[in-house]
Amino acid sequence: MTPVIALVGRPNVGKSTLFNRLTRSRDALVADFPGLTRDRKYGNGMLGGKAYTVIDTGGISGDEEGINAAMAEQSLAAIDEADIVLFMVDARTGLNVADEAIANHLRVNQKKTWVVVNKTDGLEEHSAMADFWKLGLGDPFPIAAAHGRNVSSLIDIVLEPF
Ligand code: GDP
Ligand code: MG
Repeated sequence: MTPVIALVGRPNVGKSTLFNRLTRSRDALVADFPGLTRDRKYGNGMLGGKAYTVIDTGGISGDEEGINAAMAEQSLAAIDEADIVLFMVDARTGLNVADEAIANHLRVNQKKTWVVVNKTDGLEEHSAMADFWKLGLGDPFPIAAAHGRNVSSLIDIVLEPF
């Protein structure tokens, strides 16, 4: 089995943009992944000589209260299926309540989790990152999925143990 990377986070943070970038080289949607459902999208990719599977999720609504309501079931399932969780947040909007609810879940989860700060294009990196340290999930990692900025470095780092 190749390592499985789940993309989770609020709607509109750029999960599908990153998914498309990570899977475009092979453009192969996974047909034989256990537990495959229509609510999650699975793709294969390869970067830095390492193959992986990536799961896109529809996102978690920011309107609800409490972790059970806030975490859409598909996101919880994707986290269960994954070896690595990329928790995506938006540098343009900053932190919000939904991000904090997701972080509370991820902090108690056993899965290796990375905070990925997207849409850093045109922003000063250091100040763009400052807010996201508060999530308590380690060093936030800046990317711009739409432009590919830092995406291969991110994947190199997260796949390092595999
Ligand atoms: P999702 O709902 O989390 O899957 O988010 P999408 O991938 O659909 O992206 C939401 C919006 O953010 C789209 O309009 C994207 O073009 C935009 N977006 C995604 N990545 C970037 C980025 O790196 N920089 C900027 N400026 N916009 C981005
Ligand atoms: Mg999407």
